[in-house]
Amino acid sequence: MSTPILRLDGLSASYGQIAALHEATIEVRADEAVALLGANGAGKSTTMKTIMGLLKPVAGRIEFDGRDLSGVATFRRARLGIAYCPEGRRVFPGMTVRENLEVASNTDGAGTHRRVAALFEMFPVLAQREKALGWQLSGGQQQMLAIGRALMSAPRLLLLDEPSLGLSPLLTNEVLDRVRAIVGGGTAILLAEQNVGKALAVCHRAYVLQVGRVVRQGAAAELARSDDIRAAFLGA
Ligand code: ATP
Repeated sequence: MSTPILRLDGLSASYGQIAALHEATIEVRADEAVALLGANGAGKSTTMKTIMGLLKPVAGRIEFDGRDLSGVATFRRARLGIAYCPEGRRVFPGMTVRENLEVASNTDGAGTHRRVAALFEMFPVLAQREKALGWQLSGGQQQMLAIGRALMSAPRLLLLDEPSLGLSPLLTNEVLDRVRAIVGGGTAILLAEQNVGKALAVCHRAYVLQVGRVVRQGAAAELARSDDIRAAFLGA
């Protein structure tokens, strides 16, 4: 079993007086996809913003690759290898698919070319729409492009915030089906999702957040079988 690439230790965060995350302890290993599950407002986005350094923790610590991230600026966290794909499929509407990917690269021309080719292999639909402009893509294609942009820096960890938002079940499946391939390519994933069934199907482990607290954790397959998770999230 590999060592954790990300470790949150008793992490708490708040917005002014409003506490949003309470003493969360969460680990992601370099070779796994981990789901962060919970209803609206449970604290999933807050966790991701705090990992990225967009929100300062009020307690606890964040370690990335064994290094304490306290006081490390957001752009340095990105340089260390953490990529963030926030809610809402942010792509440049007036640029082509290829341009959207190229501008997100942090390496030279040849390396960029190779990364775009690798992404086109992972998301064939983007290859087919290579010359289409961002605004011309469907919601699912935009989400794949947003993920592709995050992967252009060859990150070691991808924070993926609710990629299924606003997508049909079919498109959600198409997007989330790429999770294992991304991990296979060397990028660990922390996936925030309200689509619990699908998230548990593609991730190795999961944590369940409820009003800012981790209330359950375990192997995804086990959680998917557990009665209380099924009752709370899967309508069983
Ligand atoms: P969602 O799916 O709605 O994004 P979430 O699990 O990601 O849900 P968070 O966005 O992390 O939840 O929100 C956690 C709590 O923090 C909620 O009570 C929310 O209302 C509050 N919150 C989030 N952002 C802010 C903000 N900018 N200012 C004040 N409170 C906020």
